[in-house]
Amino acid sequence: MNNTLKVGIDIHGVIDAFPERFRQFSCALPKDGVEVYVITRIKRDKNVDQLLAQAGILYTHYFSIVDHLEGLNEPIDWFDGLSFDDDAKWNIAKREYCDAVGIDFMFDDTPTDLKTFNTSDTTYLHVINLERKIYKNR
Ligand SMILES: [Mg+2]
Repeated sequence: MNNTLKVGIDIHGVIDAFPERFRQFSCALPKDGVEVYVITRIKRDKNVDQLLAQAGILYTHYFSIVDHLEGLNEPIDWFDGLSFDDDAKWNIAKREYCDAVGIDFMFDDTPTDLKTFNTSDTTYLHVINLERKIYKNR
């Protein structure tokens, strides 16, 4: 069976919080033709590749808000290595990407992102992570 479903998975608070669960999930999906999108704020670099490889995550696409906004020449402020997230463009970037590529299910933990999916066709699955008290932008 060839499936056209597209699944998005955030890294921080999702993959890094539940690596074994999302390893099993991401490995099961491509066997049925499901496309797995890592959708996150951070740029893809060797540390991200290492994190995903160590977690055993299988994915077909990678989307970074930082890369996306840099491509649009949007100003990005950095503080202590973290991207600054005070601009509405940051808060809607995941939703806009999900809408643009037709993501069916998005697994994410950030309350800010949850609110932006109200008008999206993407089904937003809010991952509850009680251990994460502070939501840093990375
Ligand atoms: Mg997150």
